[in-house]
Amino acid sequence: MSYDPNNIFGKILRNEAPAIRLYEDDQTLAIMDIMPQSAGHCLILTKEPAETIFEMTPEGVAACMRTTQRVAHAVRKALSPEGVFIGQFNGAAAGQTVPHVHFHVIPRRQGEDLKMHAREMGDQAELERIAEQIKQALE
Ligand code: AMP
Repeated sequence: MSYDPNNIFGKILRNEAPAIRLYEDDQTLAIMDIMPQSAGHCLILTKEPAETIFEMTPEGVAACMRTTQRVAHAVRKALSPEGVFIGQFNGAAAGQTVPHVHFHVIPRRQGEDLKMHAREMGDQAELERIAEQIKQALE
C-alpha cells in the first residue's frame, strides 16, 4: 500500500495543520481527537509513513504502544473514567477514515454511550481544557 503524506495527520506531524498537542517524542505524537467520541478522546500518531499497521516496523509499533499506555495512564489519572478503550483501525472496511496509523484512547463511563465515530466536532475550549488536565497528569 502506498502512503500519501498529504493526509491530515501527515500535515499535523509536519506542523502544516493545527492540533491540540499532548505529548511528542522521536517516534510518536499524541493529540486530542477533534471529534471526540467521549470527553478525553486522544489519538497517538506514529511518525512512520504508514497507512496501516502492516507497513510499520515492529519498533514503530512498540513506540506507539509505549506512548498509548502513557497517555492512557494520564487520561485515567486526570479524568477518572471507569474504563478506557484502546483501538486502532486498518482499512476503510475496518472503519479507518484517516490513512495514517494512529491509536485511539477513549475514556468509557458507566451508562454513557459513545458518540458516532468522526462525526461531530468537539467544543474547542472544552478540548483545550481537558488537554491541560491530561498534560498535567502525564509522567
Ligand atoms: P480512524 O477512523 O481511526 O481513521 O479515525 C480518525 C480519527 O481522527 C477520528 O476519530 C476523527 O475524529 C479524528 N480526526 C480527524 N481529523 C482530525 C484532526 N484534524 N485533528 C484531530 N483528530 C482528527
